[in-house]
Amino acid sequence: MGRHPDLTIVKKRILVDTFLDLEGVRVPLKSIRNAAAKRYILRLHRDGYIQITIPCSGNRKHAMLFVEKNRQWLRDQWLKREAGIKEKAAERHRREIYYKGKLEPVEIKDVQGQPHASFAGQSFPVDLHRLDLKQWLEAWLNFKAKENLPNRVWTLALKYGFKYNKVTIRDQRTRWGSCSSNKTISLNWRLIQIPPRHCDYIILHELNHLKHMDHSIRFWRSLEAICPWFRESEAWLKVNSHYLRD
Ligand SMILES: [Zn+2]
Repeated sequence: MGRHPDLTIVKKRILVDTFLDLEGVRVPLKSIRNAAAKRYILRLHRDGYIQITIPCSGNRKHAMLFVEKNRQWLRDQWLKREAGIKEKAAERHRREIYYKGKLEPVEIKDVQGQPHASFAGQSFPVDLHRLDLKQWLEAWLNFKAKENLPNRVWTLALKYGFKYNKVTIRDQRTRWGSCSSNKTISLNWRLIQIPPRHCDYIILHELNHLKHMDHSIRFWRSLEAICPWFRESEAWLKVNSHYLRD
């Protein structure tokens, strides 16, 4: 018969569980007797407990002396671990998003025990157990787009005398907007993220399609009359097409 598969477990026996005070925190200390070990081995487990391995020639009293002798090292390891955990948590919540052309940092704050995402002077509750932050932010930006963009279309249409049927806000990866033959203006919710002047350009472009359904010279001429900055916007949108993707 071969070696018993549980042999190592029989050899490595957890003896005593106690605690060690590190930086005011009671850190669990587990002793393991390992017949194969040649010396005392100390390590801070990533699950947050200290493990001391006692060799066959050792005993618990010496093990505790060994722990005390290495207290400074353990303390450093503990602080390093704490810093790592904090950094990871911060990393998870470190987000910046574009809103109306400005890169705004997103912060997660507790408001009466409920996490809220706040940025650009706005705050809304998030349930991070249910959806991740990216999904919450997208939903919120979508909501803001529906709140803002149809009003902007209405204002510009009134100013330049366009008559449209309705505005729809869409989630598209490839285009900023479109204008259908039934006079519906469709806009990408991501327009809420870009600088307002370029957003206006897209709206004016789509409104102008109500008069010219193509991209003929006549289309561009009449667009230039109401949007003299259209070339600048076209160039900006070409360079910043990543807004559509990420
Ligand atoms: Zn067009």
